[in-house]
Amino acid sequence: MVNIAKPIIGEEEKKAVMAVLDSGMLAQGEQVKQLEEQFAKLCGTKHAIAVNSGTAALHAALYALGVKEGDEVITTPFTFVATSNCILMQGAKPVFADIDEKTFNLNPVKTEEKITPNTKAIIPVDLFGQIYNAEQMNEIAERYGLKILEDACQAVGAELNGKKAGSFGDMAAFSLYATKNMMSGEGGIITTDKDEYAEKARRFRHHGQTATYEYAELGYNYRMTNIQAAIALEQLKKIEKFNQKRIQNAKILTEGLAGVKGITTPYIKPGAKHVFHQYTILVGQEYGKTRDELVQALKAADIGTGIFYPKPLHLHPVYAKYGYKEGDFPVAEKLAKQVLSLPVHPSVTDEDLKSMIKVIKG
Ligand SMILES: *Cc1c(COP(=O)(O)O)cnc(C)c1O
Repeated sequence: MVNIAKPIIGEEEKKAVMAVLDSGMLAQGEQVKQLEEQFAKLCGTKHAIAVNSGTAALHAALYALGVKEGDEVITTPFTFVATSNCILMQGAKPVFADIDEKTFNLNPVKTEEKITPNTKAIIPVDLFGQIYNAEQMNEIAERYGLKILEDACQAVGAELNGKKAGSFGDMAAFSLYATKNMMSGEGGIITTDKDEYAEKARRFRHHGQTATYEYAELGYNYRMTNIQAAIALEQLKKIEKFNQKRIQNAKILTEGLAGVKGITTPYIKPGAKHVFHQYTILVGQEYGKTRDELVQALKAADIGTGIFYPKPLHLHPVYAKYGYKEGDFPVAEKLAKQVLSLPVHPSVTDEDLKSMIKVIKG
């Protein structure tokens, strides 16, 4: 079975973990520090702050940006739930805006329509590994004096016009969850150029401590372990190779699926390096089978698939209670019914890709 995701764990990762275990220094220490230095270099940012999940990274970043109760934060309903949960975690109000049909990312025009005097920040997502519409979105944020938190959890190594994911907003959040392009089992990293934000995020990671056993504000235990950092440091050396393989696999699929009626392959923006955390096609009405039938046909050929995401966030009870209903975000709702992600991770072979193309062509 070709699964939709598969972490790649080599001898290097195993050795690095054993070295940490042998050292006896398991909690946040030297490996975490090294990871932060090297990750900041990768993103071209001044700071990187390691935490224990992408969710923690989003939460700490929103705190550092000063988002609090009474504030509104605009984001996309077509993302993993952690993107918007961090808004609730800070006691702020989540405000959704519809997405762009081609990129699946937050639509800047729709975002601007949602701005009120209470809006404090925008969380655009680099969904599936392609950077959000940063030119337009950042211009809007600047015009209204809003902060941008880039949810780059799916986009490590992605670029737009030569600039790296994690460097587009005031702050950014990455995830090192087991299925992500680089991983440490669980883990997260915050990036920023601003000293003040970095310092706040570091404090928030460690109970709000300002000096030894001095606590200014509420914080959490969001620290990463040296064990996780040791894995991530090895993955960091391989991430460009991993991403290149995903890009190559995506290219083969897109070429192989060209012209199949009712199937739309992923759109890549001019100037974008899309790192294909997910390779997501649209299964339209003109296609001979329903999406479910295609899923079953692929499964019969030992190909696993994923639906990211089957239901936009505004339709889940946790968010619907803010007054959202079916019909509010037509693009997100339509795409949720059509998306289908095919495996393109580095362990997927040319044979696997051929078999996917064959099944989809029918
Ligand atoms: C994975 C992911 C997260 C959350 O990361 P965790 O490490 O699982 O907490 C947040 N946002 C997006 C878009 C993600 O894909």
